[in-house]
Amino acid sequence: MKSKHWSIYRSIGQLLLWFVFVASIIYLHDPVSDAGIGFYPSLSIHSITIGYITTHTVKYAVLGLGLFSLTFLLGRFFCGWVCPLGATFDASDALIQPKEKIKAKTNITRIKFLVLLSSVLIAFFGFTVSGYIDPITIAYRAYELFLYPFVSFIGSKPLSWILPGYEARDYPFYYYNWAWVAVVFLVVLGLSSFFRRFWCRVLCPLGAMYAVASHASLFRRVVDTDKCIHCGACVKGCRMGAIAPDGVGTIEHECIKCFDCLKNCNYDAVSFTFKRPSKVKSIEHPGKGITRRDLLIVAGSSAMVAASKVSLFAASHDSSIIRPPGALRESQFLDACIRCGQCMNVCPTNALHPCFVEAGFYGMFTPRLIPRIGYCDFTCTRCGQVCPTGAIQELSLSTKQKFVIGTAYILHDICLPWSEQINCIVCEEVCPVANKAITLEKKIVKNTKGIQVEVLLPVVHEDRCIGCGICENRCPVSGQAAIVVRKPKLKLEERYG
Ligand code: SF4
Ligand code: SF4
Repeated sequence: MKSKHWSIYRSIGQLLLWFVFVASIIYLHDPVSDAGIGFYPSLSIHSITIGYITTHTVKYAVLGLGLFSLTFLLGRFFCGWVCPLGATFDASDALIQPKEKIKAKTNITRIKFLVLLSSVLIAFFGFTVSGYIDPITIAYRAYELFLYPFVSFIGSKPLSWILPGYEARDYPFYYYNWAWVAVVFLVVLGLSSFFRRFWCRVLCPLGAMYAVASHASLFRRVVDTDKCIHCGACVKGCRMGAIAPDGVGTIEHECIKCFDCLKNCNYDAVSFTFKRPSKVKSIEHPGKGITRRDLLIVAGSSAMVAASKVSLFAASHDSSIIRPPGALRESQFLDACIRCGQCMNVCPTNALHPCFVEAGFYGMFTPRLIPRIGYCDFTCTRCGQVCPTGAIQELSLSTKQKFVIGTAYILHDICLPWSEQINCIVCEEVCPVANKAITLEKKIVKNTKGIQVEVLLPVVHEDRCIGCGICENRCPVSGQAAIVVRKPKLKLEERYG
């Protein structure tokens, strides 16, 4: 394969897959969305490694492993063609001018293999770090919870004119703690100011997995030494630093098959072809530069992180943290959730939001329901349908309508009928439960002027309340609502109604 057009074909292929990724985020309720929802998480490091170790239940893993196995044939094509974060780096090249001050020869590129090793070791202690270091989840979170709300805030209506079938959301949606999502994304993106694709070359554990497998791949860069004049054009233009200084040798595990070297060579010396690894000059192997000291540091730090799980988890017993309907038991939920944000994105009422440290460090970016911003729609089961890991179980509508996610409590000191003897029936009216979890009790009381009046006092029936939060959402008291939803006292098995 010698055509210089392959670099353009690659860019088009990458763009098309990026469109599928974006479509899966903005088309919330159709087959495009569901296909993307199945496809992209299947590629995550959780799907193809950590999920087996920690939770043993990962949807879509077969798809992910199928794509991963292509690496033995095609090399690390995933990073150049498929990865949405990789596409974002390439798109941002025009904005971020790398200083190229740190050279890859300092061997910092080995760090990604140590990150991979460490995340797998930690998984054996039942600790999932995929949500923080996986490029798929970093990209999902950034696009869903930061970029898409930002773009649609500016032009939700214009988007609906441009995109066929796109329905503009009819409420201004935003995500609590979005700024922390943005910070992580911008830091990852900003690393490219050191050199292009810094994250991919130095830190990405998914890239490291593909790199290890690609070392044995058959589809390789080959240089015709009779034609090569060692001008260095390919070396300079390689975004992954995958070409040796002489322009001939290739660091196979860093080559992402972007074909820029084909385009950049003016002497027609470069081609890509299927060859046995032993027949091609490939320099370096994935383990190069990893020392015993590195391995000791990885083992020590993994043990420390794993040991801290108890204390990190201990912080998550905050009674205001309401999980979505169908969420696993808290400790299992934290292990299974990859913090992809899909449940938050599909929630039609903007009820689900990413935690920062409210649920402990280990709970960072996991979904919580904030009723004052949005309530759990009685007729919706979408979050359980899209969760790629089963952290939120898929519930039938009838089960969901009985599933207890919390319990409402009236704050008597600010509730209008209780504190000021003013009738207000909003919470009773909006309660969607058939036999009403909030009822009104007629009472004769003395008002603030000492006059006897008849008021309707709202009373919550804990045994009927499912904690959907619509009462807290609609409570007319300004600021803090006079009725709040807190974690249910029931055990998970008792919460299915
Ligand atoms: S190295 Fe990692 S972040 Fe970079 S493109 Fe590949 S998978 Fe994506
Ligand atoms: S619970 Fe939400 S954030 Fe967590 S894995 Fe499932 S869909 Fe993603």
